Amino acid sequence: MRFEIHILSSGTGSPTVIHNQTSQLLIVGRYHFLIDCGEATQFQLVKYGYSYMKVSHIFISHLHADHYTGLIGLLNTYNLNHRTAGLHIFAPEGMEEIIQVQLRLSAVSLRYPLHFHLTNTDEESQLLELKELSVTTFPLKHRLPVTAFVFREKERPPGIRKEMASALSPEACQAFKKKQDFRDEQGSLMKWADYTQPAPSPRSYAFVTDTVYLPEIASLLKNIDILYHEATFGDDMAEHAAEAAHSTTTEAALLAKAAGVKKLLIGHFSNRYTDLQPLLFQSRQIFPETYLATEGSSFHIPYNR
Ligand SMILES: [Zn+2]
Ligand SMILES: [Zn+2]
Repeated sequence: MRFEIHILSSGTGSPTVIHNQTSQLLIVGRYHFLIDCGEATQFQLVKYGYSYMKVSHIFISHLHADHYTGLIGLLNTYNLNHRTAGLHIFAPEGMEEIIQVQLRLSAVSLRYPLHFHLTNTDEESQLLELKELSVTTFPLKHRLPVTAFVFREKERPPGIRKEMASALSPEACQAFKKKQDFRDEQGSLMKWADYTQPAPSPRSYAFVTDTVYLPEIASLLKNIDILYHEATFGDDMAEHAAEAAHSTTTEAALLAKAAGVKKLLIGHFSNRYTDLQPLLFQSRQIFPETYLATEGSSFHIPYNR
């Protein structure tokens, strides 16, 4: 099953020739999730050749313009393309109002159902439960209510060993997949562990943007495979970062280290930085497995047995 993070754009408010505003595409198996939807999102989706019609769920971290202004354009494009499949939008209070005003004043009537879901900006909570994965959210600290999103694959049952499968009854297989031993017709006990191989470890991704440094959230990010954390500023701007309710490269790295994540992606770069290598260097001093979340880059999480 695919588990891929595709960076559509990773800039802040004012676009530059390198950066557009924040947006990412997360593909998990058959699901296409859009995380934040800055102004140029639909252009980036087209530019990099993604099947944007497949997006079924959109997660908006907060209502600063650089994280949602691409939404109305994308919704209209879906209409023009005769979309009929429902679309779920998870966002803080106000998102639905903004979109409904725009649709109403443009006299647009959508051909597909649009479902808004409020994110809980006060405490950690479950957002979405699917067969293969779950999505949770928890509040960050910024100039507006903002939440992080954590996508965790569910644990899968152990697999029956291929060489043994043909000799087993369906009842025995069922029991083994539930990690239960099975007694056959002759009364002998068959141990599930002898007939199965462990399923791959569940994979996970966390998206943390637009926040001051919050060391206390490390406990909510334990053992995450890939953490995206904003690093709007380098260490040269640490004081300004705190005033603007953003984080630095070093702070992002400290959090990744404390949480014990496997990989850190940094992004949401201030447009004052034309060369990102010093930012990467600063984070890698503390957390060597840091990578730049630049436009067009992709990160795959392979199965880990
Ligand atoms: Zn922002
Ligand atoms: Zn913001």
